Amino acid sequence: MINETDLEAWDYWDEDVDITMNYYQNQAAKTAIYKSEHAVIYPALGLAAEAGEVANKVKKILRDGKFDRKAIADEVGDCLWYIAALCRDLNVDMSDLAQGNLEKLQDRKSRGVLGGNGDNR
Ligand SMILES: [Mg+2]
Repeated sequence: MINETDLEAWDYWDEDVDITMNYYQNQAAKTAIYKSEHAVIYPALGLAAEAGEVANKVKKILRDGKFDRKAIADEVGDCLWYIAALCRDLNVDMSDLAQGNLEKLQDRKSRGVLGGNGDNR
């Protein structure tokens, strides 16, 4: 399982680079080369596939007893690329999306409905 040593050994990023979500979204768009008629569908399916890759790497913690933090993080990064592409196709700024999501969660927290079910809590 994951222990403190695993977490402390984390040095995935050597440099202290801080980029904005919209900068990332714009840069990611430069490598989004799928056909326009596949907009939304292509990145949505890609996101689902990459989320599966994250789950598979995490599953290997159970199978192999090894926590490969970099491999998991790499797959999360792949998810991020598809999220950026999906946002672009939906004409949504990632930073606006992030802010809106934080506000939604803070609202749910303040109303005591973080737990439970339903999109419109
Ligand atoms: Mg991947």
